[in-house]
Amino acid sequence: MSTAASRSPPPAKRARRLLRGRQASSSSSNSSLPSTTSANPLGRRLRHCNSVEEVLPHRLCATIQAQDTDRLNSHAPFRTYGEEGQSLQEFCQDRPKLLRSYCPTPRRSIIYLQPIIDERQPTELEQLDLDFVSRFLEAFLPTMKVRVMEPWRIEVPAKATKTKAHYETTLKVGHGGEYSVAARRSRDGPSLHPQIGLNDLADALLYKVPRDAWCRVGVSMLDLYEDDNDDFCMGRAWGASRVAVLGFFRYAAELGKGRPPRGVPALREAMVKTLTHEILHCFLFDHCTRGSCLMNTTGNLHEDFEAPLWLCEECLAKLCLTLDFDVRDRYACLAEALTGEPAFAGDLQHLLARRDAARRSSPSMSQPAT
Ligand SMILES: [Zn+2]
Ligand SMILES: [Zn+2]
Repeated sequence: MSTAASRSPPPAKRARRLLRGRQASSSSSNSSLPSTTSANPLGRRLRHCNSVEEVLPHRLCATIQAQDTDRLNSHAPFRTYGEEGQSLQEFCQDRPKLLRSYCPTPRRSIIYLQPIIDERQPTELEQLDLDFVSRFLEAFLPTMKVRVMEPWRIEVPAKATKTKAHYETTLKVGHGGEYSVAARRSRDGPSLHPQIGLNDLADALLYKVPRDAWCRVGVSMLDLYEDDNDDFCMGRAWGASRVAVLGFFRYAAELGKGRPPRGVPALREAMVKTLTHEILHCFLFDHCTRGSCLMNTTGNLHEDFEAPLWLCEECLAKLCLTLDFDVRDRYACLAEALTGEPAFAGDLQHLLARRDAARRSSPSMSQPAT
């Protein structure tokens, strides 16, 4: 029996009927793509960037590499699942051509978080604490703003029947709007609990996307599936369409096991990591193969829980070039966001070391090279 990858699979598998897949949209041979004006400074920087050292301070790179080495000495590297990764040069090569569509602008810089709530358990998503998530994401992604929307509600049957494996249910999106959403009986385990089709949720998110939205992300505690070949799917991002859907049912179920159960802090950490990972796909980040990075692909729940919250220096350089920020300010804001949060005590130690390394760098080295 197959088990779905916990996070997005390689990009080639992401394309689907109503969503623009990354491969098609980022192809340099696509004549419909807008061209970049030579006056755009971000475009110039992306075109001329050849190495991480042009973007990040040397001290910070050294600290990140030392942290990665420490982690790889104590943990097995993440598997690559046959993916080739995406170098900084590859990431930059397509960007100037795609800049108007694929880099945020002041008019289009809001990450919309759309809670999707099971009507039977309306308080379940409070474990995620979307106020904290908003503060964290705004620190992690400088220049971006996060807006949490009024929840959508979904009717989830109390229990799927043994005789009817597939059925339809209703997603209520406010102001009387409703979508019909596919559901099915779960295929693994004895509980026959209902699962929701994530493709229909993605279609609902794509309808009437706000003009100032950079991306729109559905977050839920639902058990999701994508197609008949999977047992479940934690979530999916369609980077070129800048939409993602996440359901954290399996995290809660797994972390609720054991004596004592690992509990809410571990659940929150796992949810925030996966949410951030999927949002980075909306900036056209592909999976990383460096072995110790938030953008590593993961293929099961254990790997999701083991994933770090931080980026390797190559992925950090991609983010720095995309959003044009000062890394010293970013680490200061991240440290502030995570201070006093028990779920992120271990992550905070890593970030403080990086913050201190960035602080010791000269100001001129903490800005992306021009
Ligand atoms: Zn992914
Ligand atoms: Zn990376």
